[in-house]
Amino acid sequence: MTELLRIEDLAVSYGPSPAVSGISLSVPDRGTVALLGANGAGKSTVLKAIAGLVPKSAGRVLLAGEDVTATDTRHLVHAGVVYVPEGREIVPNLSVDENLVLGGFHLDGATRRQRRDMVLGIFTEIASRALSPAWRLSGGEQQMLAIGRALMAGPRLLLLDEPSLGLAPLLVRRVFDRLAAIRAETGLAIVLVEQNFRMTVRVADTVHFLRGGRLLGKRDAVELRNPAAMDEAIAAYL
Ligand code: ATP
Repeated sequence: MTELLRIEDLAVSYGPSPAVSGISLSVPDRGTVALLGANGAGKSTVLKAIAGLVPKSAGRVLLAGEDVTATDTRHLVHAGVVYVPEGREIVPNLSVDENLVLGGFHLDGATRRQRRDMVLGIFTEIASRALSPAWRLSGGEQQMLAIGRALMAGPRLLLLDEPSLGLAPLLVRRVFDRLAAIRAETGLAIVLVEQNFRMTVRVADTVHFLRGGRLLGKRDAVELRNPAAMDEAIAAYL
């Protein structure tokens, strides 16, 4: 499979000591790669560095072979790299529809309508609430809206920061089921940051484990769906 994203020896520092360092990983076209680790392991920092939201102190980021290490967030969005922040950050007083329009503001009207229909076809829960203010949606629906807004930009690479955060287990499952549908429908690649081990191995192809800002190891997600292998990986890495 061809490689969409390649990270080489990435480091990010917020102060004197690095928050993450020595991070190297690869995301194939149409692949889903997950970063798992505890609070403060550095998962969000890796995503933000890819998205151009925090400065890199070392390393390179390549998108489809092109060096985008120094590319700013706006240009990365145009190149198809879209970040969905932890905590969703939708605009509560705007309607579902208006939030979606924000994600596709740069598109012509016809493309925007087509993308909106695609998004609401995947997230059927929010389709009937298109005119409701976003704050009225449940946590799970708000997460779907945040992902839907990102899909409006037509990403090649979706960077998803802890979509399960603050959601009841049933809603987590629903959001992750939709991720599988998005992959099938749009063929985009995903970098998923999570603490929810069980759900992550359901949707990912490859799982990287992070601790203290460093990668500890990488496992095939399909193997980890076996309960014994999952227990062993939890004991080894988390
Ligand atoms: P969480 O799930 O809690 O977001 P995480 O694995 O995503 O955890 P990061 O948020 O990437 O971890 O944080 C990695 C380290 O960098 C932590 O020690 C954190 O305190 C520190 N850090 C993160 N953001 C900043 C910031 N803006 N300024 C200073 N330090 C930061």
